[in-house]
Formats: sequence, C-alpha cells, structure tokens
Amino acid sequence: KKPQQQKKKIEGAALIGIDVAKEDDLGEWYSQVVTKGQMISYYDVSGCYILEPASYAIWEAIKLWFDSQIKTLKVRNAYFPIFISADNLEREKEHVEGFAAEVAWVTKGGKSDLEKPVAVRPTSETAMYPYFARKIQSHRDLPLKLNQWNNVVRWEFKNPTPFIRSREFLWQEGHTAHLTKEEAGAEVMQILDWYADVYQELLAVPVVKGTKTENEKFPGADYTTTIEGFIPATGRGIQAATSHCLGQHFSKMFNITVEDPAPKDGKKAEHINVWQNSWGLTTRSIGVMIMTHGDNRGLVIPPRVAEIQVIVIPVGVTAKTTPEARDDLYGKVKAIAEDLESVGVRVETDYREGYSPGWKFNDWELKGVPLRIEFGPKDAEKGVVTTSRRDIDDKNDARGESKVSDVKEEIPKLLEKIQSDMFDRADKAYRAHRKQLTDWEQFVPELNAKNVLLVPHCEGEKCEDEIKDLSKKTAIGDGAAEDAKAPSMGAKSLCIPFEQPEGIKQGETKCINPNCSSLAKSWVLFGRSY
Ligand code: AMP
Repeated sequence: KKPQQQKKKIEGAALIGIDVAKEDDLGEWYSQVVTKGQMISYYDVSGCYILEPASYAIWEAIKLWFDSQIKTLKVRNAYFPIFISADNLEREKEHVEGFAAEVAWVTKGGKSDLEKPVAVRPTSETAMYPYFARKIQSHRDLPLKLNQWNNVVRWEFKNPTPFIRSREFLWQEGHTAHLTKEEAGAEVMQILDWYADVYQELLAVPVVKGTKTENEKFPGADYTTTIEGFIPATGRGIQAATSHCLGQHFSKMFNITVEDPAPKDGKKAEHINVWQNSWGLTTRSIGVMIMTHGDNRGLVIPPRVAEIQVIVIPVGVTAKTTPEARDDLYGKVKAIAEDLESVGVRVETDYREGYSPGWKFNDWELKGVPLRIEFGPKDAEKGVVTTSRRDIDDKNDARGESKVSDVKEEIPKLLEKIQSDMFDRADKAYRAHRKQLTDWEQFVPELNAKNVLLVPHCEGEKCEDEIKDLSKKTAIGDGAAEDAKAPSMGAKSLCIPFEQPEGIKQGETKCINPNCSSLAKSWVLFGRSY
C-alpha cells in the first residue's frame, strides 16, 4: 500500500507545477507562473487582474521604500478624485492627443446620460493642476510637491499582460512645481535614481538610464527621463519607469504663475510660469521582476521584497516516528523560526500533515520563496540546518548547511548573497544582449538574435519611424525571430542612454539608417519593446 501512496504524492507534486518551459512558450509560462504562484487571479473584465496578497506584499515593499525616500525631499501624499472633467483633460493639447485613444469615459449615471461625460484618469496632471493654480499664489508657496498612491485606467488595445500591461494599474504619481528650471531638473534626476534603485536594489533587475527621444517622450513634457529594462526571454526592451520634466507647458495652460521674486534692477516684477515635473512607477515593475527571475519551477522572488524570505520545513518524519520524537522536532523547528524572526527575517514554517516534504518543496518553490531550510532528525543530531537556495538551478550547488547556533548571523547573510547574485546574473544577461553597432546590415539580424541595439542616430523623428518600418519588413522576410509576436514588430528607440560610449564624431559619424542623410547626434538604444 505504501509505495502506491508515495507515487500518488509525486504525481500531485507534478500537477501543482508549471507544465510549459519558459524557453518554449513565454506567454503560457508567464500566465501559469503568476496564477499558480498566487500572484494574480483572473477577472472577467479584459485587461484587469486581481492582485493577490503575495504580489500586493511586493508592491507594499516598493511603496514603503520609495515613500520614505520621497519624504526626504518633503514630498507630501494627497489624494485627488478618479474623475476628470472633459474641460480640464483637454486643456493641454499634446497631452490630450497622447492619451485620447486610451481614455475611458463615464457617460451614464444609472439610467440617465450624463450631461457632460467625465473621464477616468489615465494620469492626473489635468486633475491636479487647477488646484496647483489656486494653491500657488506667491513664490513662497513653492516648491509644491505632491504625490499620490492610486490607480489609473488606460484602455489599452495592445495585448494585455498581468502587471506588464493592464487597463487598470497601481502606481505612484508625483507632481511638483518649482520656481526654476534647474531645481525642477535636479528633482527629475533624483527621482530617476530612486526608480533605478527600486529595480536594481529591491527587485534585482538591471536597468539603463536615459532620456526619451522626441518621438517617445511623455505627451506634453519638455523631456522625459526613463529607466529601460530588458526581458531576456524575448529580447525585448520594456519601459520600467519615467520621470518627466514638464517645463512650463502645463503651467501656461493652467495659469500657474508667481511674481518674480528677483526682478531685474528697477523693473516691475513680472509673473513667471512655474516649472513642473511628474513621475510615475507602476505595478509593471512586479511583472518585469517575475519575467527576469522566474524559471521552470515557478517564481523566484528576491529576498528584499519577498513576503516570506525563508520557509522552514521539518523533514524525516515517517510512520515510525513516535509522537514524542515528532513534537520534539517540531519544537526545534519552531525555535529556529523564532531565532530568525528575532533578527528580522520574514519566516514561515510548514507543518502541514498529509503532504510529503517533496510536495512541500515544490509548493514553496512555485511561490518563489528565496530560501528553504530543511530540518530533520539527522540535522538535529548534528546541530545543523540544511539550506536550499531557490535562485540556483543545480540541486547540489543550491544546498548548504549552517549550525543551528549560527542561523541568526548566517541566514541574513545568505539572503543578501542571494539578492546580489540574482542581480549579477540578470545584469550579465542584459549586458550580453546590448549590442553596440554602426553597420545597418547587422541591425535586423542582431535584433532577431534577441538583442537591443546601441547605434549612432540622428535623433530625428521621421528617421525613427523609418527604422521601425525597415526592421519590421526585413524581420518578416527573414522569418528569423523566434518570439511569435516579434517578427511583425519593428524596433523603436528605447532611450538615449546617459552613459554614452566614445566613437561618435560630431559632424562626421553618419546615422545608422541607410536612407537617412543626417549625421548622428548620439548613441541611441533601439529594440523591440513591450
Ligand atoms: P507615463 O505616465 O505614461 O510615463 O507612465 C509611467 C509608467 O507607467 C511607464 O514608464 C510604464 O513603466 C508604466 N506603464 C505604462 N502603461 C502601463 C500599463 N498599461 N500597465 C502597467 N504599467 C504601465
């Protein structure tokens, strides 16, 4: 009877797991990982998803850290309504043009048509700035720095993907007003640095910092700075977060002015328009983290954001184990967990009965818990715990040992090691897929080899559109791209990286586009993108 029981359990273990390989079908793999890992539950409105506690906990970790950073800049949190009047939404021309296709409108209240439909915010510039105009009466009211943690709705028509592209998503949006361009500019960069920290330090995901080209900047902005991520499995770039300098565009439209506090000698003080910024980071970050680190056993969550960092599982309890011996073992497991808790490790224990250790291992691996501690009678005898890292594939390499008496020092160190190894591996992969080239002949083949490309470019808007077109057509001809959706997709500019390699001679180096007669201004990162 016994061997049969054992077999049943193993079958069960296979059933809870992921049954398609990441490298074979990323879309299906991702869908299974987020649902079986209990991050997402599907919902009956297309493009909208339930964020389950395990993913919301990651969002909370991001929120906690970022909120404390912006408070050092004296940014204050507030809340503005979800609805925007049509009049306000349409005040800044470029802005409304940029968002028009994605705005959801409320046209009815109950059975009656609204006299004037109201928009559901796709972002809150136009909801907030009439208030800014009222609040800012003098230069003494500056800077005004507000942020809100909220939801926005963008009725996207591109393929929705949990976290990555949803129609409703959670984010923070910061909105600030300054007296000078310099002050506004400094804040844009500070925020971008912190966005990079969220990705690199918390989520262990590498990013490239840069500026968006004119084509890709935020509608209504002076300039947009961005961090660009990368999904190795498809070779596609992804806009990870953006920090915009809005300049004076909105302050002109919304009439946000102050009297010049330092008028030129003898001259009457003039009214000057304030300088504004807006910046946003969304739940997309969680999706990028999952796609970067997840494997064929499920989620792999970096320790710094994991809701549960360590799972302790008692092992070696069999039918022969006496109740006393079992209670003794469980008592020791509890003591280990308490030790870890006392030094701030987020730890859980798994005493579930009727499940084999193997089944439990699979279950916690699926959920991405970064470290497992196994503890059985043999470990108890030796006074050690057995550790198993989630981020390493090879079973032998993943395993280690720590003295029970040392867990308070050793386990936090091991968690930090996991965190930094995860980043290093992802960083290496991203670097290996950023190809610097100057020859157009290499452009599409390198794109099809799942790379993003750093190329000399004129920064022209039309030229950029042309590159998108050229890389689309050639890709279809080649049939070389493996990602099912990629071949039809042309490459767009991801950013002009702040870190510019040498090699562009102003007035000499040509734009990479063979049909473009302009000279290159900078190295621009191009890629297929989400
Ligand atoms: P934006 O205000 O347009 O600059 O958007 C801010 C950030 O939101 C972008 O940098 C993206 O990372 C992210 N984002 C844009 N669209 C979506 C979406 N549909 N779902 C999740 N995140 C998004």
